[in-house]
Amino acid sequence: MTEPFGAYLHLPYCPYKCHYCDFNAYRLPRAEGARQEMAAAIAEEILRSPGEDLGRTITSIFFGGGTPSVFRPEEIGEILQALRRRYGVARGAEVTLECNPGTVDEGYLRALRRLGVTRLSIGAQSFRAETLARIGRLHTPAQTRQAVRAARAAGFKNVSLDVIYGLPGETPEDARASALEAISLGVEHLSAYALELEEETLFGRLARQGRLPLPPEEEVVRAGDLVAAACEAAGLQRYEISNFARSGRRARHNMLYWHQGSYRGFGPGAHSHLWGRRFWNAAPPGEYLRRVGAAGEAVAGEEVLSARAQMGEWVYLRLRLQEGFTLQSFARRFGLPLDAAYPGVRDSLRATGLLDAVPGRVRPTPDGRWLLHRIAAPFLA
Ligand code: SF4
Repeated sequence: MTEPFGAYLHLPYCPYKCHYCDFNAYRLPRAEGARQEMAAAIAEEILRSPGEDLGRTITSIFFGGGTPSVFRPEEIGEILQALRRRYGVARGAEVTLECNPGTVDEGYLRALRRLGVTRLSIGAQSFRAETLARIGRLHTPAQTRQAVRAARAAGFKNVSLDVIYGLPGETPEDARASALEAISLGVEHLSAYALELEEETLFGRLARQGRLPLPPEEEVVRAGDLVAAACEAAGLQRYEISNFARSGRRARHNMLYWHQGSYRGFGPGAHSHLWGRRFWNAAPPGEYLRRVGAAGEAVAGEEVLSARAQMGEWVYLRLRLQEGFTLQSFARRFGLPLDAAYPGVRDSLRATGLLDAVPGRVRPTPDGRWLLHRIAAPFLA
């Protein structure tokens, strides 16, 4: 079996900037040709990048951003073509593209299908028009429904929706209602994240000034529990803290991240991980374009993880998964028992009720899932 190897493409432009977003995302420049220039630079970066990962076959591709669906099909196609030439893409590879409602129609999605995109991840975020306006999204719930219908008409059989809970002005019941709307569209996968307040965003500033009506923490927890219960009742099984899927529809690219697999990232600010070494590109699009133009690559920093850091990260990432991990798998990976690597840690976490007591397996309890940072801290220290 081919060892999983992923490619992440960061397409940094959006039609607008959402009030909560601190991703490396920028308003689409007005200048005609900005998208073509970016797509061409990413293709060039792929084709000219150093050869340490040559010979690997890509098993999953993820177009993220930004809003990749503001790029034309031929621009997406140019990048895919570069990946095929540089690496080769496995038959049956998962190829996901993130899109926002209001930026796609059936014709556009048909063109993506013809290029080999197999999966869509649609940013619904909420099904309340009022909430969408409050968080700075310019689409409507009707456009989300329309995007899912267009995806089906174009032949997509693997569609995911993103929703956010804990949004300002929303009750747990509102969050549940949004999740139920998403589920009613018959999607194969749902990602549900609690709103995270980031300092350098409009929401971060409003919160500091006390001008953001955020729900209290216990309501956020209740919203998350209601969303999870709605998903599971509808047959979308939780497989990771924030992700739910029908059987056989887990996001393979994200599973690669949670299994600490190797992947290459291309585009402004994209991160790569190759066998314990991480490196990342310059984030501002202008700098990225200049660097790729001059040298064919835009690497701005790197870090080699120590064996101990890899171990801690491995534990943390697997604790995010519903099944956690087995003691056997840890010992197989690192050559020593978990309790020898972290003496006393498992017992003390069990005593506080944060870790399950299933023999041979390590996973958070339902309460522990909300306090993953506390569980992970002694492993990451
Ligand atoms: S669409 Fe996504 S990436 Fe773009 S600004 Fe909004 S949250 Fe950020």
